Amino acid sequence: MIGNDHHGEADVSGSELGTWGGPKVEPGWTRNCLDPWNFVFIYAQGEVRPCCAYPKAIGDLNKTSLKNILNDEPVKKIRRNLLAGTLEGSMCDRCSMRAPIKVDDLKKKVKEFSVIGLCHKYLGRRVTDFEKWP
Ligand code: SF4
Repeated sequence: MIGNDHHGEADVSGSELGTWGGPKVEPGWTRNCLDPWNFVFIYAQGEVRPCCAYPKAIGDLNKTSLKNILNDEPVKKIRRNLLAGTLEGSMCDRCSMRAPIKVDDLKKKVKEFSVIGLCHKYLGRRVTDFEKWP
């Protein structure tokens, strides 16, 4: 069953993966994905997800603003796990939309993305203190 727990990790298994499920990433690797930093998927009813594959919401526009959702714990946890390569049990671990990448290489990509400030408007700040972020 696809859950709707806004504060839980998106644990997935079996049928929840649907057509999205691919091989897990190896230790030291993560997914080549910037979606939790630069993309949102919004249902007409207001549910917000970090991408079209993710099985759980990260927030609800009927309850709070997009800016708050993009700075709240559910999406920050997804970012942290991608940056650390700690994807066990999550949709990102089995994601067939994004190729594997070494953890250090994703960190470089996110750092470049952050420093040039493309995420400034909705994340509410220009990220120059990368080591403390997210
Ligand atoms: S499920 Fe895939 S596309 Fe979505 S945030 Fe995770 S790695 Fe990115």
